[in-house]
Amino acid sequence: MKLHEYQAKELFKRFGIPVPDGRVARSGDEAVEAARELNGPPWVVKAQVHAGGRGKGGGVKVVKSIQEVKKAAAAVLGTPLVTKQTGPEGRKVHQVLVEEGVQIDREFYLAVVIDRAQAMPVMIFSQAGGMDIEEVAASTPELVLKQFVDPGTGWMPYQARTLAYGVDPLPGSDPLKDLTALMGKLYTAFVSLDCSLAEINPLVITRQGKVMAVDAKINIDDNALTRQKELRALDDPKEKDSLDVKAEEYNLNYIRLGGNIGAMVNGAGLAMATMDVIKLAGAEPANFLDVGGGASEEMVTRGLEIILEDKNVKAILINIFGGILRCDVLARGVLAAAQKTAIKVPLIVRLEGTNVEEGRKILKESKLKFMVAKDMAEAAAMVTEQVKK
Ligand code: GDP
Ligand code: MN
Repeated sequence: MKLHEYQAKELFKRFGIPVPDGRVARSGDEAVEAARELNGPPWVVKAQVHAGGRGKGGGVKVVKSIQEVKKAAAAVLGTPLVTKQTGPEGRKVHQVLVEEGVQIDREFYLAVVIDRAQAMPVMIFSQAGGMDIEEVAASTPELVLKQFVDPGTGWMPYQARTLAYGVDPLPGSDPLKDLTALMGKLYTAFVSLDCSLAEINPLVITRQGKVMAVDAKINIDDNALTRQKELRALDDPKEKDSLDVKAEEYNLNYIRLGGNIGAMVNGAGLAMATMDVIKLAGAEPANFLDVGGGASEEMVTRGLEIILEDKNVKAILINIFGGILRCDVLARGVLAAAQKTAIKVPLIVRLEGTNVEEGRKILKESKLKFMVAKDMAEAAAMVTEQVKK
């Protein structure tokens, strides 16, 4: 689960990580009101979307008058912001963060993530912070410093010094102390909030010598949300694909993909195998959809509805191995969805397993138009032929 910058900064404050004073605004007038309550000029108006690269995409404006605050907010609110991370369609901006402007002396990069290869968290620090850390890592990897954290001992003060003393030229002793302390606080936040990522880019030293998180990014591990109940409320469905939100609501394992073959399958393993055979046949799946081994008729209906709502889908493959999910239940679910939304694309069905005869009979006796495949390979070939036409 991704958080907005303003939400991440609220959380950082709780862990003692300094951030600029700011307010969220949803209109130009609210932005003006916010700026009046904050120190300035300058002020910074920042689009709140779940994507980085906002600075280069025009989503971060440093302005010097109240009039410009209003203009900057109005310019991004309600329109899609396109950055390197959003894709060409961009992300619609629903809110901006108005902050007191900070006079930046130096910009660093600081983050904690899980290193899967080492199976432990790693603190990443670079003196080449700012906008393009990927670029820095590619061209000057020696500027990216790392400290792995043994979860048993936790973050050790010497590790903070190892990172901070790798900076050239060395900051003054006060900012250096604040910098090393902040690393410990970020690690505590990372662990306490069950983050998969906690990132500050840039972490700055101001001209006044203060260390401060000018940007903030937090991703929470979805698997921890059962125990991070308070954080669940920070989820913003507006940032998600509407079909993903619907799938979540019905407990369906759904991931939208780039192809044009909608696939409905029961069981994650069979769903992955189905994607493989579709690719092998020369086509691309539009989604991964596992309705679940023990799906109900309603879940089957919802799953098919989600596929039917996807405008990219040019043909549908239903591949079910009836076990706990019986084939007759599947058939009824399919018919219920077809009654609500006419299926206008070719439908290929491959059914096997429990109550398969009954399932086939239900489908055959309905008005639904569909083709039957005898096995998976044939199903994939048939559905691919439909989109190649
Ligand atoms: P991102 O591009 O989405 O990562 O957005 P950031 O929050 O990192 O902002 C982009 C850049 O804007 C930063 O790297 C800073 O250089 C600049 N910036 C952000 N806030 C301030 C500020 O208060 N004062 C100044 N001078 N620059 C800022
Ligand atoms: Mn940033």
